[in-house]
Amino acid sequence: MKAAVCREFGTPLEIEELRLDAPVAGEVTVDLAACAICHSDIAFAEGDWGGDLPAVYGHEAAGVVREVGPEVAALVPGDRVVVSLMRSCGRCYFCQRGDNHLCAGEFPGDARPRLHTEAGEPVVQAMHTGAFAQRVVVHTSQVAPVPASLPLDVASLLGCGVITGVGAVLDRVDVTPGSSVVVVGTGGVGLNAVQGARAAGAEVVVAVDTSTSKRTVATSFGATHAVDPAEEDTAASVRALTGGRGADFVFVGVGYTPVIEAALGLVRRGGTVVVLGMPASDEIIGVVGVDLVHDDKRILGHKIGSGSGPLADVVPRLVALYDDGRLRLDELITGRYPLSEINSAIASAAGGDALRNVIVFDGHGVPA
Ligand SMILES: [Zn+2]
Ligand SMILES: [Zn+2]
Repeated sequence: MKAAVCREFGTPLEIEELRLDAPVAGEVTVDLAACAICHSDIAFAEGDWGGDLPAVYGHEAAGVVREVGPEVAALVPGDRVVVSLMRSCGRCYFCQRGDNHLCAGEFPGDARPRLHTEAGEPVVQAMHTGAFAQRVVVHTSQVAPVPASLPLDVASLLGCGVITGVGAVLDRVDVTPGSSVVVVGTGGVGLNAVQGARAAGAEVVVAVDTSTSKRTVATSFGATHAVDPAEEDTAASVRALTGGRGADFVFVGVGYTPVIEAALGLVRRGGTVVVLGMPASDEIIGVVGVDLVHDDKRILGHKIGSGSGPLADVVPRLVALYDDGRLRLDELITGRYPLSEINSAIASAAGGDALRNVIVFDGHGVPA
């Protein structure tokens, strides 16, 4: 099968012919129809987070089950599924508590590479997915069926970015109807927090971004107000929209420490800041102690899937929101590219103009 391989950080991916092992117990093989490009893929390919090479990235995909390994009861060949990096054993301490996103279980794929070059050289299946490829072998917890009504290119978006942004609003905290929500940084994940807030019935949804185009898009996805932090005093604008109190919730979609620190100044007493963006590994976030104790403010981290349970539970909830017209997915796709043009798709995504670029593979009825 063909795959886009990273041989050296910061250089274009190379399309190579690779071999993929058959699934073992608890695994499935999926013929991919689409794989969206997430900013984590770009960060990995640039070498920002290290990791071994050669590697195949891609962790937000959809396709059709080709083969199931032993002990896989819930899926059969032909099932249309989302493929995600979210993986859980269902048995460990964390999974038993419903914190599947923190799973500490062991998986057969971790012990042996399943991807190889034609010459037998092992290739890393990054984020245990490796979906910049025509096919993947993944743990059964990484796939969830989707209805025939959902096109697979659209379904691929449910593998990461939508779960992260919408899940932060609906599952990590409880945004109730009438709430006030601020989203700082309305790129991919932040934009999904905006639409999650609207889906939750938030009355005031403020998009804060220095980019005019991102503010415009955020408004089309449900933001009721937009603030340019380069032009306005964001805290004053938020207070003016929230009866002078500050917002009930602030979601920070960027991993820039000063922005995270400033977010505590945007929430009301008793309000909650949720950090969605990943700061650089050595950064320290400064917090005014009085904010936490006297003003009872909360600052929470968030990882894909926090509070959402296993993928098989979260995907149907998101599909139901989409069917209700409360979750926009089609509009998140900016461009569709064949695998051979993946470097153009990545360059466009890295430039910040695209919401999501999606690699589409032949067949499966997905338009190229
Ligand atoms: Zn991702
Ligand atoms: Zn587990």
